[in-house]
Amino acid sequence: MTEPTDAAVRRAVKPVICYPNDTLPVPDLDLYRAAREAARKVDEVMVPPREAACFRVAAGQFFRITSVEGPQVGDLNLWNAQDLSERFYSGKARALHGTHLTTGERMWSGFPYLRPIATILEDTLDWYGIDEYGGSVHDVIGTRCDPYTGNLLAGSQYHHCCHSNLIRAVADELDVSLEEAEPLVHDVLNVFMCTGFTRDTGQYFMKASPVRPGDYLEFFAEIDLLGALSACPGGDCSAEHSSDTAACYPLKVEVFAPEEGALGDWVSPPVNRYDRTHGR
Ligand SMILES: [Zn+2]
Repeated sequence: MTEPTDAAVRRAVKPVICYPNDTLPVPDLDLYRAAREAARKVDEVMVPPREAACFRVAAGQFFRITSVEGPQVGDLNLWNAQDLSERFYSGKARALHGTHLTTGERMWSGFPYLRPIATILEDTLDWYGIDEYGGSVHDVIGTRCDPYTGNLLAGSQYHHCCHSNLIRAVADELDVSLEEAEPLVHDVLNVFMCTGFTRDTGQYFMKASPVRPGDYLEFFAEIDLLGALSACPGGDCSAEHSSDTAACYPLKVEVFAPEEGALGDWVSPPVNRYDRTHGR
């Protein structure tokens, strides 16, 4: 199409933030950090390369995902442990916080709950910021690598994509079939993954993760959580995913419980207060 005569003027309009987030409830990071100091480790799960594993974290506990052995990206799913219909909503986390999450930002659940289910307490990669390509770490823009897209694009039958890894782990954890587990798996927080959108074509890109062994992302569990983490077959996601060619490493998940009373009168956030009458 031919540009209208005022095209430059229209493009020059300044953007406005869709969801100014200065009215979001602010997590009490000082309280969480104080409670974390004397917390003791109560569980550890090692996620093998190209596999996933589940873990459980009670409300008020902490969980830490650590890179061990080599640079590795992880795909994280979270559910309310008591009601699996409440689960992480990556699209809303993106709308509220931006394309990548870091310290103080939160993992929100979907409708009709829409409340923080986990809060990022520490991020050893928070120094990375946004690089010259527009890339940053821990994204909520990618979905999760899956065998259907591979089949669509290349006719492949690869079984260790994060989607399938998460399905097997959830099926084993809940003792349900793969068919029952699959609808529970949802869009992820891409832990340690470095991604962005190209400026010229707007395409989703990935690049080698800056994560190194010892780096971690630590969360405060706002509600009782069931978590599942997949060690992505893409490894550090420097070249490709959805195959067995990339170097792949385990990821460690540790759960820490605070001392009795360390959180004072803290309670889990309430579910969203919209009245759900939807105009009727
Ligand atoms: Zn993956």
